[in-house]
Amino acid sequence: RAKQDGRNTYRFFTAEMQAESARILLLENALRRALERDQLKLHYQPQICMTSGRVIGTEALLRWHHPDLGAISPAEFIPIAEASGLILQIGEWVLRTACLQLKDWMTQGLPPIIMAVNLSSVQFRRADLPSLVSRILDECQLAPALLELELTEGVAMNDPLGAIAVMNDLHDRGIRMSIDDFGTGYSSLSYLKKFRVYKLKIDQQFVRDLSDDPEDRAIVSAIISMAKSLGLQTIAEGVETQGQLDFLREQGCNEVQGYLFAKPMPAEEFGPFVQARTR
Ligand code: C2E
Ligand code: MG
Ligand code: MG
Ligand code: MG
Repeated sequence: RAKQDGRNTYRFFTAEMQAESARILLLENALRRALERDQLKLHYQPQICMTSGRVIGTEALLRWHHPDLGAISPAEFIPIAEASGLILQIGEWVLRTACLQLKDWMTQGLPPIIMAVNLSSVQFRRADLPSLVSRILDECQLAPALLELELTEGVAMNDPLGAIAVMNDLHDRGIRMSIDDFGTGYSSLSYLKKFRVYKLKIDQQFVRDLSDDPEDRAIVSAIISMAKSLGLQTIAEGVETQGQLDFLREQGCNEVQGYLFAKPMPAEEFGPFVQARTR
């Protein structure tokens, strides 16, 4: 019986794995066409200053609506784009679209804010990344200090010395960097000091249960005080409740981002949102 169960389990996994690799192949091919067919969009989520309540930045987040498959989450298609190398073209499109959008908002009279763009490890490892980013900023006639590149801890810690060199190059070009999903990876504190980042994004997994989990409170409070001693800014991701916000304010977190303020939204809704909060 055990043997039979074992065989069934084996068969079950095989079928599942087959379905999964078929889906990956399907998405990879669809993704290849998605860029040209205008199926990729960016949504923008405001980043709010804790003290003034103003929108001081926005994170660009990829959205893919496939005509037959419907909405596909970046959590599913980004890894596929990375494995196939497509992330390079997609990432360049994201950078350019986000920069053009910010320029457009400013031309329409919106105050300058920081545009935060997620960067894949595949992009970060390319030797031409810094010059590509500079070229896009030039094309868009945008000040480098208005762009922030979000890197995850893993990207930096995988090859810390290489990462430091790239960060120095980007920093010399006036481009800001932050560490995304901070606390989920494995950051060596001694490297953190050498990384040319100016902000830590506290991962939403620590924010979620802030109101009733003393350990999460301790972790968040430790991240904020460590950031302060290193001269780094902090932003909390995934803020959904007033209770979370109150705790973060008490601890001196600089910025917040989350559904409590707004979900990521299409570009045309973003301008009115900012204007409504500036009054
Ligand atoms: P991330 O960069 O950590 O982005 C934050 C995620 O949290 C986003 O999910 C956002 O929609 C979601 N979020 C924001 N506020 C809240 C909240 O209050 N509650 C909850 N539950 N969630 C909130 P999204 O848009 O599905 O993106 C998932 C991940 O996909 C991102 O995580 C990022 O790692 C990746 N990603 C998205 N766009 C890009 C891109 O243009 N390039 C690259 N390389 N990765 C991207
Ligand atoms: Mg991010
Ligand atoms: Mg994050
Ligand atoms: Mg994330």
